[in-house]
Amino acid sequence: MDLKKVMIFGVPFLHITMDQFVETINEHVEKNEKIQIITANPEIVMKAKEDSYYKDLLIKATYVTPDGIGIVKASEILGDPLPERVAGYDTMIRFLELANKHNYSIYLLGAMEEILKGAIHTIETQYPNVKIVGSHNGYFDWNDPSIPNEIIKRQPDFIFVALGMPRQEKWISYHFHKFDKGIFMGVGGSFDVLSGTIKRAPLVWQKLNLEWLYRLMKQPSRAKRMVALPKFAYEVIREKVTRKNE
Ligand code: UDP
Repeated sequence: MDLKKVMIFGVPFLHITMDQFVETINEHVEKNEKIQIITANPEIVMKAKEDSYYKDLLIKATYVTPDGIGIVKASEILGDPLPERVAGYDTMIRFLELANKHNYSIYLLGAMEEILKGAIHTIETQYPNVKIVGSHNGYFDWNDPSIPNEIIKRQPDFIFVALGMPRQEKWISYHFHKFDKGIFMGVGGSFDVLSGTIKRAPLVWQKLNLEWLYRLMKQPSRAKRMVALPKFAYEVIREKVTRKNE
């Protein structure tokens, strides 16, 4: 299927709603296909703008979706609007719901052992039909073949990789050729949220598109990383002005 893409600074974002995306992914699962998904936020787009390594990761992925309101707003300003956010944590939850409905299997890779255990406990409790066929914490020797071998053996439908960006994308790209099937997705800090260690912003904040501010208040150490946001906004406006003058 040829789905429409919206280019933002050379990054091809999928023009799709969350519901359509879940449906599309379900079709891939039914056909036992192999897919890589990257949910990209402004910080990642800014990195890709300056770093060809990041850009390559994004271009090679099967699907890139907009992680955050910043990307959606940018697409509106640049005149080719994306329908909505298809963000990492929300997408993982939708996939867990899908897996629960169809008895799909999953493999979890990443986070600290206790966090991983907590995430597994939440999934077992809230999505009882999901088959967790394997898991490993995120602190391992990259040369040890046992994790990819385990995935090859267990054939999970979904492989959620929570090593942070770009580590998780790097891990997926590096091993991708070894696998026959599976929906591979980097999910950042999602296991931390699933385990209850990190709380998401209350719904009102999410609805007001202020989740980023909530996270900043809870984890002030993120401030350095968030410098990418105003830089991104500036670049989007500059791009718009440049296009207008052309
Ligand atoms: N993490 C990991 N292995 C590593 C580095 C990080 O498993 O070598 C985990 C970390 O424990 C956390 C997750 O990756 O659970 C997300 O980290 P971060 O918040 O940096 O990622 P982001 O949400 O920014 O993508």
